[in-house]
Amino acid sequence: MTESKQNSWCGRHDKPREFAKHQPIICYDKPASALVSKEEYDNKRYEALTGELVETLVVPKREARTWTMLTGDLCRITVHEGSQVGDVNFWNLDNRQERFYSGKTRQLHGAHLRVYDRLWSCLPYLRPMATFVFDTLAQYGIDEDGGALHDVIGTRCDDYTYKLITGQERVGSCHSSLVKAVVEERGMTEQDVHDVWNIFMCTGFTRDTEQYFCKPSPAQKGDFIEFIADMNLLVALSACPQGDVSIPVGVQVPDEKCHPLKVEIFRKK
Ligand SMILES: [Zn+2]
Repeated sequence: MTESKQNSWCGRHDKPREFAKHQPIICYDKPASALVSKEEYDNKRYEALTGELVETLVVPKREARTWTMLTGDLCRITVHEGSQVGDVNFWNLDNRQERFYSGKTRQLHGAHLRVYDRLWSCLPYLRPMATFVFDTLAQYGIDEDGGALHDVIGTRCDDYTYKLITGQERVGSCHSSLVKAVVEERGMTEQDVHDVWNIFMCTGFTRDTEQYFCKPSPAQKGDFIEFIADMNLLVALSACPQGDVSIPVGVQVPDEKCHPLKVEIFRKK
């Protein structure tokens, strides 16, 4: 449609319409339960890390694994071989209908989670499932393009979108890895997999077109994050087949760009 035709259809004329200007209003200005006591969570972290290491597992590159946590357990996820991003799903261990709600978490805290932010469950529960307590990459902050780490923007890479972009069938995404892990390890289904917490991934929206972008992850060997379970949890983690995300979706990712992720669970004695 030509612009003039579109304008006449909309009843518009040459003069641009003017809108009143307003300051942004933070919609959900931190409910009390979204603000944790830093001292309380630092203490929980200390008690867990000085307690027992109850489980260690490695999520192989391009695969996913699941594990469980009890309330108060601390989970450390380490980039122990090389730069790598991960996609995490959470369910209430005792009621899998209650699962992570990335959209509301984004509205309550921000598009990228920072230490002492919480991960919230879906409606009608809307409870904190876990609290982010440590990040070796915290100093990255928000970069000059608005990029930051550990987002709750993205959904998870999946083979359906890959087909839209490339026209090709494939099984090799965080979605397919998470589905395989929950089906084989927990007897769950594809419908149980949901939008993720994108750990170690650097993402944002372009300023001019507000398009989702990513940058290569700044995580290096030895970097880690930690969170504490606020309820008994079932957790699934995919070591993303995009590796450090330095190559756009649709382009073949060389094997050396992909690495495993190490998971450790610490419990208070
Ligand atoms: Zn992925």
